Amino acid sequence: MIKLLTELCGTFGPSGEEEAVAALVKRRVKDAVGEITTDAMGNVYARRPGKGARVMLAAHMDEIGLVLSHIDARGFARFSNIGGLRLDMAANQRVRLKSGRVGVIMEEERGNKDDKKIDRLYIDFGYESGPAARKEIHVGDVACFDRGLECQGNRVISKAMDDRVACAVLIETARRVQKTPNDVTFAFTVQEEVGVRGAMPAAYTLNPDVALSVDVTMSGDVPECRPMEVALGDGPAIKVKDGGHIAHPKVRDLLVRLARKMKLKHQMEVLNLDGATTDAAAIHRVRGGVPTGCVSIPCRYVHTVSEMVDMRDVEGAVKLLAAFVTTDLRKEGF
Ligand SMILES: [Zn+2]
Repeated sequence: MIKLLTELCGTFGPSGEEEAVAALVKRRVKDAVGEITTDAMGNVYARRPGKGARVMLAAHMDEIGLVLSHIDARGFARFSNIGGLRLDMAANQRVRLKSGRVGVIMEEERGNKDDKKIDRLYIDFGYESGPAARKEIHVGDVACFDRGLECQGNRVISKAMDDRVACAVLIETARRVQKTPNDVTFAFTVQEEVGVRGAMPAAYTLNPDVALSVDVTMSGDVPECRPMEVALGDGPAIKVKDGGHIAHPKVRDLLVRLARKMKLKHQMEVLNLDGATTDAAAIHRVRGGVPTGCVSIPCRYVHTVSEMVDMRDVEGAVKLLAAFVTTDLRKEGF
């Protein structure tokens, strides 16, 4: 799974530019699931048809990034954020354009350093002049952060762990689950980081009887952080609520029951942060409403270039999802 995770995290895919990730996902899931389609927005659906309940499992393919908004006379670029870019973390990092050109984000030396405004940051792509820069970079060019994946024991650090780790979990679940009484679609969504925009049409198209989103969540196990019960290594987290979604109690309770039955280490998650949510926020509100839960992978330093997860939690999430999709969900009342 580390190999799959390394490939996924290393692929270019800020919101709106998920094509490379989508292509990789399709290559990796096609042996496990025969029917693969892509919709107008770029959402990828890998379906295992069946007679039972329609189940949607969603993981988003996009990552946070930035888009060039201005190139000055000397070739330095200004930018706008794509998704929840943490400005305190962005400075001094490297970014990479789709073309492969690498730049460094730097902060203006003069002025108030405590004033964390995007206007104070610029990107130096190393061009020798404005005209040289303008030949190769343009307003509207999109970049993602440039940082490799490191694996140390159970702990893995990478950019874009949010939410490629969940893409890996879905692919691995599809590979392991050969038989299910349900009609299961693994949905790899676009544009989650800019406001869960891909998941809504995806849920409308799939019209599921029950759904789960799979995403990272924050943890409360680092120095002086906000109090939170979730910790790395304590298993996948079963969502109770976050800033945009209250898990459907029937889905939440079923996940807990399945985890207990397997004696799978798990934890309950209450993410107490306004606006922080997952694809579930969109999915549960389409059509007449969809009972929706969420399985979270605990992650430190979310939305930085060094998002850290524990592989035991990742493995636990695969086991929990596999148990969920192999349960006869009609019999559970969905
Ligand atoms: Zn996410």
